[in-house]
Formats: sequence, C-alpha cells, structure tokens
Amino acid sequence: MGLITAEEYKASLNDGREVYYKGERIENVATHPDLSVPVNVMAIDYEMAEDPQDRKLAVMEDPETGEPISRYYYKPQNAEDLLNVHELIVRSSTLADGYIPLAHDIGADALNAIEITANILGNQDYIDRIQNYRKLLQEKDLATCAGVTDVKGNRMLRPSDPGQAHPDFYVHVVEKNTKGIIVRGAKMHITGAAYCNDIFVIPCRTMSEEDKDYAVAFAVPANTKGIKQVCRPFTSHIGPLEFPNKRPVRVHTDSLIIFDDVLVPWERVFLCGEWKYAATMVYNFALMHRRTGCAYRIPLSEQLVGVAAAIAEYNGISSAPHVREKLTDLVIYLETLKSLSKTACYDYVMRGGVAVPNPIATNMAKYHFAHNYHDVVKAIQDLTGGLVVTAPTYKDYQLPQLHDFIDKYLIANKKVSAENRLRMVDLIRRITRAELETICLHGEGSPMAERMTIFMEAREVLKQCKELVEEMAQVKKEK
Ligand SMILES: Cc1cc2nc3c(=O)[nH]c(=O)nc-3n(C[C@H](O)[C@H](O)[C@H](O)COP(=O)(O)OP(=O)(O)OC[C@H]3O[C@@H](n4cnc5c(N)ncnc54)[C@H](O)[C@@H]3O)c2cc1C
Repeated sequence: MGLITAEEYKASLNDGREVYYKGERIENVATHPDLSVPVNVMAIDYEMAEDPQDRKLAVMEDPETGEPISRYYYKPQNAEDLLNVHELIVRSSTLADGYIPLAHDIGADALNAIEITANILGNQDYIDRIQNYRKLLQEKDLATCAGVTDVKGNRMLRPSDPGQAHPDFYVHVVEKNTKGIIVRGAKMHITGAAYCNDIFVIPCRTMSEEDKDYAVAFAVPANTKGIKQVCRPFTSHIGPLEFPNKRPVRVHTDSLIIFDDVLVPWERVFLCGEWKYAATMVYNFALMHRRTGCAYRIPLSEQLVGVAAAIAEYNGISSAPHVREKLTDLVIYLETLKSLSKTACYDYVMRGGVAVPNPIATNMAKYHFAHNYHDVVKAIQDLTGGLVVTAPTYKDYQLPQLHDFIDKYLIANKKVSAENRLRMVDLIRRITRAELETICLHGEGSPMAERMTIFMEAREVLKQCKELVEEMAQVKKEK
C-alpha cells in the first residue's frame, strides 16, 4: 500500500471510534468543527510527504524493499539517523507553528522502546511481533500515538497495592484466552489519540512482581470495541475579540482513554507479565520521547524569543540595559536547547540494537526547557507590560467612535502602529497562555523525572570525576 495522502489519512478516521468532546459523542472527528483543527495539524506529516521540498526529510527508501516509508518508522542505527529525525521534527513543528504534527513521532518512540525491550529481554515472539508490526506501520503509513501515563490513583502506592481505592488505576491484564488478552484500566493526557489510527500502550513506571499483570504493552486500533475517549476542550478558532488572522489555528487535544475490557490479539501484545522489563520499556520511551519533545520545542522557543524582541521594539525599549539583559537570557535559553538537543544525537548510545540519543544530554535539554520556561514567559510579560491583560479588543478597535483614539493613544514607538502593537499582544497572549505552561512543564514527564534520570545516568561520571580528584590529592587507599 505504501505512503498515504493527507486526505486518505483524514478519511481513515471515520471508523466508528468512540470519542467524546464537550459532552457529546462525535460521529466523525475529521469533519467536526473543533476536532478537525488538530486533525489538520496531524495531517501536516502527510502533507510533508507530498511536498517536493519536504519529502526528502519526511520520506526515505526502505533499505530492504526499496519502498518509500515514513522516516519516523525506520529503526535508527546511528547519529545521522537520529539527526535526520531531529531535523524532521523541527521542520514539521515549524510548519505547525510550534506544535508537533504527531502522526508518527510519538508512536515511533513507543515502537523503538518496545523493540529495544524485546531485544534486551531476548523473547523471540515479542521480537517477531514488533518487527512485523513495524513493517505494517511502514506499509500502511498509520498514524499512531503513545498511551503511557496511567491515571495512577494514589501516586505513592504501587498499582497492585491493596490500599488503592480499586485495582484498575493502571492498565492491566484481567484475562488471557486463545485469541489474546483482555485489558482494563485508563490512560490520561494522551495527545492525538482521538485522531490517530492505532494506540500504543506501554507501562508508565517500574513494576514489582506483585504488579506483573500491569506489566503489559500492546497496540490496538483506536476504534477497538471497549475503547472510550474523552477529549479535553481547546480553543480551535481565533475569536471575534482578537485581531483577524488568516493562519490556521494549530492545537492538539489529549484524551482520557478508558479500556473497558478490551481484547488485544496476541500478535499485538509486546509485554505481558515480564515485570522486570516494564522499567526498560518506559525508561527508553521517555528517553526518545524527551528527544522528540526538545526538538519540537525549538520552533516554540524561537517564537518566544521573537515576540520578546518584537514587543521590546514596539514598546520603544529595545536599547534599555535591562531589556538587553532579558533578550540575552532568552537567546541563551533557545541556543542551549538547540545545542543540547543536537549533542544528544551526535553522542548517541546503542540500546537493544537501536541508536538512542544520549541520556544525560537529552534529559538536560528537556529539564532546561521545562525548568526555565516560566522565567521566559515572565520576561515576555514584563517586556509587554499590562497591555497583555488590559488591551482593548479588536471589536473595540473597530468602533468608529474609538478607532482613532486607540490608534492615537496606544502607540509607544512612533514607528509602529497601535494596530501592530495590539496584534503582537494578541499573539503573546496566545503563545504564553496558562495551558501551555502545564504542557511545557509536564509533557514528556515531570521535571523531577528528568532530574532523577540525570542523577542515575551520571553515576559513572560522578565516579570518574571523584577518581580524578583523589588522584590529584594523592588520597591513600582506605583499609
Ligand atoms: C498536554 C499534555 C500532553 C501529554 N501527552 C501525553 C501523551 O501523549 N502520552 C502520555 O502517555 N502522557 C502524556 N502526558 C502526560 C505527562 O507525561 C504527565 O503529565 C507527566 O508524566 C506527569 O504525570 P501526571 O500528570 O500524572 O502528574 P503527577 O504524576 O500526579 O505529578 C504531580 C506531582 O506529583 C509528584 N509525584 C508523582 N508521583 C510521585 C511519587 N510517587 N512520589 C513523590 N512525588 C510524586 C510529581 O513529581 C509532580 O510534582 C501529557 C501531559 C500533558 C500536560
């Protein structure tokens, strides 16, 4: 079958899936007035494959069959493969105004994490199943997402802990039969699940022997019987109070996915009870997914630097020393993210036959982005001034009795019109909104998760540095 077009992708979503949005069951997500907006974002991945310029980045030749496949579904073997995907994510997110299209990237992170785990585990059934599934994804060019985060219940308790209010907070196996496994539980915040073809499910934490039923990984079509999705509400169109803007709104929604006794056929089961390997899977997923997250935050960070520079100029304060300081900090923020993200690809490591980005550099990049994000927003809000909250709306601006007064009084730098200043303020309000603050902090894992990984991965670095100074100090061996 090979690569599909954006239109074929959209048509594939009309498959009877059970998706709810703002209290209604949605007949067809691709034609719904709100949900079609993120569907169009996901479709960018397919449009790139059709575009003569972007195709070189989005599509590659399968070395085995010679067929064109999405670059995302190729198993990375070296730094070049990782860098190519990095560039692909940056380009696609630039086209999506700082969002990631999502059709293949997060699913590919889950795919690779499953293959790494199968290889480390050495289970030939799992190895064959994931390799066959990779081929199917390449052949059918399916859009996939990754369901990792369980609803979890009490975070301080293990999945099987009798202290939990019930045993279903983490997706788990409730029955095995000749056809496959029956799973129950719920995942939450799953981006793009409402408009992908297949959903990957992998554990979100380490498991103990008592938790072995929760050590489960699989992939299922989004329209499988028993899967119900509830999408979070989002702003899909620029409202009449904002200055008109012909660019399409770019946004995604995230689903609470309920698995109400869902049958997963054996050929799509990739982990089932091997509790020691739940950690291997989620750890490697997080690593690759943080690399993905950092790459797609580069275009977003460029927007943040851009609005800061623009509003400083529009307010006539560009040459003030404290403004230069803030702009310098923002450039350092952006360039550090870019450098660390690329370094992670160059300095890759091999895991279970797959090239993965450097664990310390990747987690540092994601931590740097998330930890400093609120300071970046603070700097932009500071440079913008109170207008970001109190600016008159476009509707006010249009009133004949107000228009000339607003033009007269809301100019700061006389070279920039009040309308342009207000347009920039609208954009600042959109790209620094509270919802994005949470996405930037928690997307790809909370900051503490990144710090814990850095510490764990840095044990060898700490040991080597300690040995270095012990040698310098000629420390005597302790008895
Ligand atoms: C917009 C958005 C999109 C997302 N997309 C996806 C997606 O596509 N797929 C996916 O699988 N996930 C997705 N996520 C989930 C994301 O990875 C999680 O939000 C993140 O891992 C934090 O988990 P949580 O939201 O359950 O918060 P919690 O885990 O409840 O964290 C809240 C706080 O509790 C602390 N905490 C949690 N557990 C413990 C503990 N045991 N001991 C001490 N402190 C603890 C944390 O450090 C944090 O400070 C998305 C999240 C967002 C916001």
